[in-house]
Amino acid sequence: MPPKHIDDMDIDSDYSDISIELGNISKGRNRKGKATDKRKQDKGKAKAKEQAYTWEASFTRSWDTVQEDEAGSLQTSVEDLMARGRRRRLLAPASAIRRTIIRHLILILDLSSAMMDRDMRPTRFDLMLQYAREFITEWFDQNPLGQIGVVGMRAGLGERIGEMSGNPQEVLKSISDRIKLEPTGEPSLQNAIEIACGTMSHLPTHSSREILIIFGSLTTCDPGNIHDTLESCFKSKVRISVVALAAEMKICRDLCDKTGGQFGVAMNEGHFKDLLFELVPPPAQRAITRTAGTGTTNPAADLMMMGFPTRLPDASPRSLCVCHSEMKSQGFLCPRCLSKVCDVPTDCDICGLMIVSSPHLARSYHHLFPVKPYDAVQNESDILEGSTACHACARPFPTKAAPAKEGLSPVGRYRCPDCHNDFCSECDVFVHDVVHCCPGCGK
Ligand SMILES: [Zn+2]
Ligand SMILES: [Zn+2]
Ligand SMILES: [Zn+2]
Ligand SMILES: [Zn+2]
Repeated sequence: MPPKHIDDMDIDSDYSDISIELGNISKGRNRKGKATDKRKQDKGKAKAKEQAYTWEASFTRSWDTVQEDEAGSLQTSVEDLMARGRRRRLLAPASAIRRTIIRHLILILDLSSAMMDRDMRPTRFDLMLQYAREFITEWFDQNPLGQIGVVGMRAGLGERIGEMSGNPQEVLKSISDRIKLEPTGEPSLQNAIEIACGTMSHLPTHSSREILIIFGSLTTCDPGNIHDTLESCFKSKVRISVVALAAEMKICRDLCDKTGGQFGVAMNEGHFKDLLFELVPPPAQRAITRTAGTGTTNPAADLMMMGFPTRLPDASPRSLCVCHSEMKSQGFLCPRCLSKVCDVPTDCDICGLMIVSSPHLARSYHHLFPVKPYDAVQNESDILEGSTACHACARPFPTKAAPAKEGLSPVGRYRCPDCHNDFCSECDVFVHDVVHCCPGCGK
């Protein structure tokens, strides 16, 4: 669809918001100087507010909280901050949440000329590609039953860059050619979202429909009313998340809030990556109220049919696969119709059965039964007799208690509520992020 006009995102209602943000964007190193000048001027009229922009609310200014220790060094403060950040992530809900393990995600990349901005090194575009690759790898590692498609926004159009695929290599290949993705023109949120929704419209209800937009521009160039698109996304239960690289735009915030996604503005390179990787774990499923009379929000689980395929040995006779029509000897046989597919997980092209291998299922499992969060041991008196070192890595615990800090253990010990073994903070994070199984009790 050709764009009819370029609009500044909802002029009447959001004009004030945007003009402030365009006026003095205080993101990134290069702009810092200008922004502080501006703030100083403001101080004359009224006491400068601590929080100048709404999107700064969720971002703690780490430099404000850093304090020197007795020796005048920042080392301990910095370590503290990092440990606290990691713990906060682990303390996220561990109770039984229903999560979608069969995920479908469309990654929308901004390929407009705004992406050539150098406020993130080397350019926003290169950084986005690099992080997108890491994101895809990590995403498939944690969601082996998921599928990703890629859509680009440039020159006022949305363009399909990679088809929906459950194969990480295929998705990575679609964004591997930097030259093909060269940014140009204006982005069009509406066109890109419509393409993404069109790709996912046929999906069954048990799978999630998600859109992740990496957006560097401050404008969008849409052929119609984007609020209609938003409405239809909401109706078809598409969840939209946006990682903005420039500033907060009202329409982006609306897209995320209305559809239950997450919105974030990247302050710098590291924060950009954090925002992106927060979207790797599967989202909790939206509670669906069924008119059962009792008003419970936890509907009975729907059962779905899956098949475990037979793997053909490499030396088997060559035959055509149903997915690519290629002569191959290796492949998998659909257990229902015995047609041959190249890769799992996939939907059988002939009978539509979902074909998965058991390791894929097992790897998706840990999201449903996470390791219980470890309790921070608060007092020296709570230390159990004979435990002097981390139960996992055997590194000795500090003998001297550090001053108490919120969420952290002053004695550096984190205890499993089931097996009551103590672990160090590194192992605590490793167990919950990577291993997904307590080394003490195996749960
Ligand atoms: Zn094939
Ligand atoms: Zn089949
Ligand atoms: Zn350890
Ligand atoms: Zn344990």
